[in-house]
Amino acid sequence: MNQLDSSPRAPYAGTNHPAHTGLGKSPLLHAAASLPSFEQQLQEFIRQPSVSSDPACRRDLRGCARWLASHLREIGIASTKVVETGGHPAVVGRIDVDPRRPTLLIYGHYDVQPVKPESEWRYPPFSGRIADGYIFGRGAADDKGQLFAHVKALESWIKTKGSPPCNVRILFEGEEEIGSPHLRDLLSKRRSDFVADGAVVSDTQMRGPGQPALTVGLRGKLAFDLILEGPRKDLHSGSFGGAIRNPLEALCELVTGFYNADGSLAIEGIYDDVAIRSSSSRRRLLLMAPSARELYEAAGVASGWGENGYSAYERVSTRPSLSVNGITGGHQGPGTKAIIPSRAVARLSFRLVPNQDPSRVADLLRRHIASRVPLDRGGQYPAFSATGLRCQIKFRESARPVKLDSNSPVISSAAEALRQTFKREPALLPSGGSIPIVETLQSMFGLQTALMGFALPTDGLHAPNEHFELKRFALAIEASIRMMDLFSKGGKRW
Ligand SMILES: [Zn+2]
Repeated sequence: MNQLDSSPRAPYAGTNHPAHTGLGKSPLLHAAASLPSFEQQLQEFIRQPSVSSDPACRRDLRGCARWLASHLREIGIASTKVVETGGHPAVVGRIDVDPRRPTLLIYGHYDVQPVKPESEWRYPPFSGRIADGYIFGRGAADDKGQLFAHVKALESWIKTKGSPPCNVRILFEGEEEIGSPHLRDLLSKRRSDFVADGAVVSDTQMRGPGQPALTVGLRGKLAFDLILEGPRKDLHSGSFGGAIRNPLEALCELVTGFYNADGSLAIEGIYDDVAIRSSSSRRRLLLMAPSARELYEAAGVASGWGENGYSAYERVSTRPSLSVNGITGGHQGPGTKAIIPSRAVARLSFRLVPNQDPSRVADLLRRHIASRVPLDRGGQYPAFSATGLRCQIKFRESARPVKLDSNSPVISSAAEALRQTFKREPALLPSGGSIPIVETLQSMFGLQTALMGFALPTDGLHAPNEHFELKRFALAIEASIRMMDLFSKGGKRW
């Protein structure tokens, strides 16, 4: 008799019943039967306040890394170690099954965002409280819950078959939420620990409830500060207003000069390298992507704005953008202060798309600004202009855009696993965000990454009351189990 038929409950309600899939049944069955204890362990994981940006949590991060490493050893991954990085430690492990089989690198992060304002949380942010089918707590979805789904998938394989079907490399870092400052260094120093045939990262979102998605492209980034300085100190606007160039006004003019009236960017050459998408791929994107209305609703606005001739989703995913993130200067306290400020700063960031190169975009930006306000060599040091203003550009972080190959074994395995698990075609979507690890794995190791996310925009990521649906946690485990199986067979062409 099929042992599945005697299963006491149907934990996969609404999804494929494991009995009807081609996969060896026991890892799925094990996972289904173990859900209550998996949920308890996830609670324990969430209870560790691993806020990477908070110096007061330094010990807690170390404790969380140790807890995770010992948990991985307990489930049978004996090689797992806590590895020093110079910052918060990483958890690194490996399972060698058979050198002829493919190797999967699983990446996730155990660090979390701060919890402020704590008063807005329904349950304490590090309680891991389970209520109404959800687990609440900082990190529940980003990324502890998603990371842990892969851990429980590995456990289900190990407990039932002795090992997963493919070789596995594990990298769980503790500094993702602070920009992964030591990740590149860790990867290059311990190269041999991370050589693989494909990577999976579950730190993205689904298309919608019950609608799986794989992210197949990420925008790059180039952030910079624009600093304009005029008089040595703030001036009385009565004595000087009208005769002195105001750096704050000049800055606003520079900023508005970045945009054309039709919503496109006015920086000469900015579109030269932008990959042109075929009309069929644009049509496909239009079918799969969130609609303009969905996008505006998520933003809480009645209508949108942007480059003419492109859909709202194209504007946030396959077209470059430049956003003003903040402007400071002059008097902002209570009451009036009639001054000409001496200095004004705008913080901006580009999102870049295939095949834009951050350093070439930086050159175009320098040229654009230099044609308006004289800059010195490289735009790094102040130069005096005829208007009495000095202008400086300070470049901050950058990341290259990523285009993933949806036909690669790891992504096609993930797509098939999602299809079997959710009984729906996964939406293959480029995303507007940037995940530096994906570019790093591609450029350093030639790795394709399956960005198989299980979060929803409503999960409260980086916000109070973050939560993860327990049903989705179960589905994520199921998808991960299936993905490992499909990947071990070389991945089915999707
Ligand atoms: Zn995350």
